[in-house]
Amino acid sequence: MSDNWDVIVVGAGTAGMMASIFAARRGAKVLALEVAPEAGGTLHISTGQMSAAGTKLQKKLGIADTPDDHYADVMRISKNTADPKLVRFAVDNAADTFEWLVENGLEVLDDHPVKGSGHEFYKERRYYWGADGGRSVLQTIRPVFLKEVAAGTITLKLDTEATALDQDATGRVVGVTATTRGEGPKTWRGKNVVLTTGGYASNAALFKELNGYPQYANAAYPYSQGAGIKMARAIGGWTRGAENYLCSFGSILESDQYPAKILARPIHNPALRQPWEILVNKAGQRFVAEDNPSVDAREHALLKQPELRMWMIFDEVIAQEAPPITAEWGRAEQMAKFGQHPMFLKADTLDELAKIAGVDARGLAATVAQYNANLTGADPLGRQHRPRPIVKAPFYAVRLHGASISSTVGLAVDDQLRLLDKNNKPIPGLHIAGELLGAGQTMGHSFVGGMMVTPAMTFGRLLGSRILHWGSEKLRAAG
Ligand SMILES: Cc1cc2nc3c(=O)[nH]c(=O)nc-3n(C[C@H](O)[C@H](O)[C@H](O)COP(=O)(O)OP(=O)(O)OC[C@H]3O[C@@H](n4cnc5c(N)ncnc54)[C@H](O)[C@@H]3O)c2cc1C
Repeated sequence: MSDNWDVIVVGAGTAGMMASIFAARRGAKVLALEVAPEAGGTLHISTGQMSAAGTKLQKKLGIADTPDDHYADVMRISKNTADPKLVRFAVDNAADTFEWLVENGLEVLDDHPVKGSGHEFYKERRYYWGADGGRSVLQTIRPVFLKEVAAGTITLKLDTEATALDQDATGRVVGVTATTRGEGPKTWRGKNVVLTTGGYASNAALFKELNGYPQYANAAYPYSQGAGIKMARAIGGWTRGAENYLCSFGSILESDQYPAKILARPIHNPALRQPWEILVNKAGQRFVAEDNPSVDAREHALLKQPELRMWMIFDEVIAQEAPPITAEWGRAEQMAKFGQHPMFLKADTLDELAKIAGVDARGLAATVAQYNANLTGADPLGRQHRPRPIVKAPFYAVRLHGASISSTVGLAVDDQLRLLDKNNKPIPGLHIAGELLGAGQTMGHSFVGGMMVTPAMTFGRLLGSRILHWGSEKLRAAG
């Protein structure tokens, strides 16, 4: 055993940096253990879209908003599947987190806040991000964190992988065993341990075990390996929320070697690009109105399809007349992919297209015939935008997958973020924050704007500033 820390933070990412900063400012002797060679975690790659109600910026813009309204909106979008206590805790304290970021230099985009972007829209303008997405947030928090490290109030051990939580005879968590690269394992002793090791979306085996679905996409932070879940389960913690698993609506993957990198994200939002194509499943059948303005409704429809797969089907006229399917490509770049990339298929007949795509040929023929025949009348799925029939060879298919960048399932905690054992009793000495709680706790069975990154920062901040105790706390003025 070495040292006796007031607070040991395991994982110096989004939640962990905040917990460390705020505990250090209350006079704690803080040790932060981080497996990566640098602090910051998922903020390196996150889109960093935050939500907070009752902010000074909203007031300045005359936007009347409250945490109560934010709460109601989260529960509306999640159809009451999010955890009411954790959502309440997050939204009631989100504005203070946002103000702290602004005080420390965060600049949000000019037209912000907005009601929404890629997810279901809020009723009010409470959604913000910086010019550089998650990196704007990283560049705000990390300098403050590193300043504390430089001042010696936080000791940061990089390249240090925590592997176990250590308990005393009463079951209290009293330390962490970790291995620094090039050194042997060591046990660090502390009065409080905060587990903020992030999610498991880069661990395909754990993803399948916890979610019940394969991880098709490789798009999460590489160190999101579920280490915290493994350590917590080893001392009696348990996970919840698999029923909230939801995929995003259709990305084009690089290959069939899962998890595969995402090649492109087509524009599905009908407000940005109306669909000209149809979307079919493996049976060759349509399963959703392609122009349904609710992304949540489209995501839930895709979730029911085999292998979370769908194919965009169109013909030569649509290929030449419709806007490109992504914002990144022009038409020539898009069309050059057919026959060259495994997700882009082209054939002279629909029958041949179905065969090379792995879609039921009879199903596809019937679907296209029905879609064309219905163009003068109502669409059975309610689609409005149907500019062209699918009739002129060659025919095209682009294969899309429902993908995941985050971890739905998380550790069960109480309303003070203490890990619960299987009898729902808190395990003393240990607190949890960030994606380790599971996206499903703060977003439910939906994607709710900003309801991961903001709660991660907020819960880290609250642990450091209020919840943890080590006996001799004295608030130090921010340096
Ligand atoms: C591409 C992408 C876009 C996103 N966009 C948004 C968005 O717009 N809005 C939103 O709300 N959410 C978004 N999210 C989710 C959100 O960014 C994350 O949920 C949040 O940043 C996670 O914070 P965290 O502190 O739990 O984990 P992290 O920030 O990942 O921190 C965990 C830290 O623990 C370290 N660690 C892991 N294992 C160990 C170990 N054994 N020992 C020591 N250290 C360890 C990791 O290296 C890491 O530094 C996005 C996620 C991704 C991947």
